[in-house]
Parts: sequence; C-alpha cells; structure tokens
Amino acid sequence: MILAPGATIGILGSGQLGRMLAMAALKLGLRCHIYAPEPEAPAYDAASARTVASFDDEAALARFAESVDVITYEFENVPIACVEFLARLRPVRPDARALAVSQDRLAEKTFLRGLGLATAPFRPVDAAAALGPALAEIGRLAVLKTRRLGYDGKGQAMIREGSDLEALHRKLGGGPMIVEGFVAFDCEASVIAARSLEGAMVAFDLCENEHDRHILARTHVPARVAPEIETAAKTLAAKALEALDYVGVLAIELFVARDGAGAERLVVNEIAPRVHNSGHWTIEGAQTSQFEQHIRAIAGWPLGATARRGRVEMVNLIGEQADEWRDILAQPEQSLHLYGKLEARPGRKMGHVTRVFPEGPRNV
Ligand code: AMP
Repeated sequence: MILAPGATIGILGSGQLGRMLAMAALKLGLRCHIYAPEPEAPAYDAASARTVASFDDEAALARFAESVDVITYEFENVPIACVEFLARLRPVRPDARALAVSQDRLAEKTFLRGLGLATAPFRPVDAAAALGPALAEIGRLAVLKTRRLGYDGKGQAMIREGSDLEALHRKLGGGPMIVEGFVAFDCEASVIAARSLEGAMVAFDLCENEHDRHILARTHVPARVAPEIETAAKTLAAKALEALDYVGVLAIELFVARDGAGAERLVVNEIAPRVHNSGHWTIEGAQTSQFEQHIRAIAGWPLGATARRGRVEMVNLIGEQADEWRDILAQPEQSLHLYGKLEARPGRKMGHVTRVFPEGPRNV
C-alpha cells in the first residue's frame, strides 16, 4: 500500500523520536496520529491527532487503526500483541517480526549470529545457577543483561573476578537474562540504514558514538575507522534489512574492536527497529534526514539520498544541560533542537545540538 500526500501515519509512542518523525511527515504533506499512554509528551505537539490510551486497549487501538493509513512505532518496547492486533487492520511497518527480534536480547543475538555476523559470545541465563557454567565458557569478564526492557544501560551489570553472581542476578530482577563476554572495544559506532517497500536499500555514513554513564553524549561523523570497516558496516546492515524483509529505518549499534592481528573488526551489539539518537545528525548533516527516510519508506515512497554535507558533530542535551539554550543560540553555527519537555530530570534527553563543519580532519 502506497500513501498519497494528505494520508495519515499512525505512530505508537510519544517521545522525541515520534516528534521528529511527525515533523518530517509534515514536510512531505503527511499527517500523524500519535498513540501512547502518556497524557503529556513531546510528540503530541507535532501531530494532528492523538490517542491517550494503554497499548492493550483494543477498542482504542481499533479506533486508532481506523483513522490512519499505515502504522509505525518510535520505541521498541511496544507489546507484540498490540502490533499483531493492529497488523490485522492496517499495514504496520516495520512489522512485528523486526520488533520481536529486537525486544529480546537472546532472539536478537541468535538472529545476528544466524546471519553470520560477529557478536560478543553469549549464553542464556534462565536461573542464577546457570551463570557460573556460562562464565566458565565465555570468560569471567562479562556483562549480565535482562533479556527484555533494557535501554541506556538499564537492566545490565558488569561481572568481574570475585563478583557475587547470585546478588547481581537478584539485582537485575531474577528473570530471564543473557550473559555476554566483555568486548574490549576501541570505540562504539552505529550504522543507520533504510529499506523501501520495493526492497531498495541505502545507509548513512557510519557514526562514532561516545556515551556518558551509558547514555549517548556525542556522535561524530565520519567515524575514525578504516574505509573497509565503513563498507563492512553498511554491508552488514543490508544483510539484516534483507533478512527481516524490513521496511523503514533500522539502527545497528556496533563495537569497533581488534582481531588477534590488531586489525579493526566490527562486533554487533544490538539493533533498534526505528530511528535512533545517533542519527539525529542527519537532520542538518545529510541530504535526507533519518526521520524523512523512515517516513518515505513506510509511505511506500522512494528513499532519499544519504550524502553527508560535511563533518558533523551532534551533542545531546541531557537534564540541565538544556538550560544552556541561550548560550547555544548565541553561537549561530550551532543548530539547537529542544523536545518541549517541561521538566529537566537527570538523565533525561531534553534536546540536542548539531554542528556541520567543512569536510576535513577532525581535531577532537
Ligand atoms: P546495551 O544496553 O546493550 O546497548 O549496552 C549499553 C552500553 O554498555 C554499550 O553501549 C556499551 O558501552 C556497554 N556494553 C554493553 N555490552 C557490552 C559488552 N558485551 N562488552 C563491552 N561493553 C558493553
């Protein structure tokens, strides 16, 4: 199903990603209807309709589906049952399979391995007693993660020599988990790629990401990696898109590590079936933004060019960093984005700032 201008896109989730998707949709003459449980949230201001209801309210979901032409989501913890229910009424892009794979770290890593991609060594941990034998196989320096509902470093814990395994397992809630070998990476990177309804694929340039307390702090493009690594990242993204028969934008988080001979190699950390914080630089820094690219893909339209407009730096404004907005505005080469959140809680993403520099070597 191909949308015509004037059509309405339904978005599940009401955060800043939904807000920027709705802004990109408006540019293309499309409207958005946001569905989310929160009464106040960033995406509503940019949408022409909203439904405030829980993700298991079938009557509200049915009315929502009735009022839109295609449905997408802006975060990966939407219940699968909700997406399956909606998919019987309207196309959901990306579909429930992409969502299911990315919601469960075990399914995700198994999927990636099945494609022949490198991941950290991992083992399922169904009970605390399984942790010791798993560590005997993958090594003692490891990361324990809940299988579901982890983000920004929540739901995970480092395991070191001498860690109290039972206590760590309990601290993470005692549910189903996986344990992964620790990857001694040089840097973290991400590749953001898109696939159209007809199967065309494009990728933005690889970005390099710096985190602060597990929250993305800065993204730089281009990433400082060998050209073969950049190509390998785009190739592996295409493999994942094809395998999922994916429609929309997909983000893949990567570790850049070293093999035994000291050469760079990519290890896949996780996939996000949506636009991604590390792709915000594309709004000013690329010919088509990741948000417009996603809208084009799910509308059944041709994808846009991903050419970069220079060397780009994106800095997140976390918590009270957003109070600096006046100083940022006073530097006219900086592009300020604020998400309209009223309360600057610590760790909360309030906005971001992008700078595009003429192409050339990076000095930071
Ligand atoms: P995740 O929630 O899986 O994205 O992990 C959040 C962050 O924790 C990553 O961006 C890494 O900085 C770190 N991390 C996660 N898994 C590993 C690993 N297996 N080895 C080393 N660092 C990791």
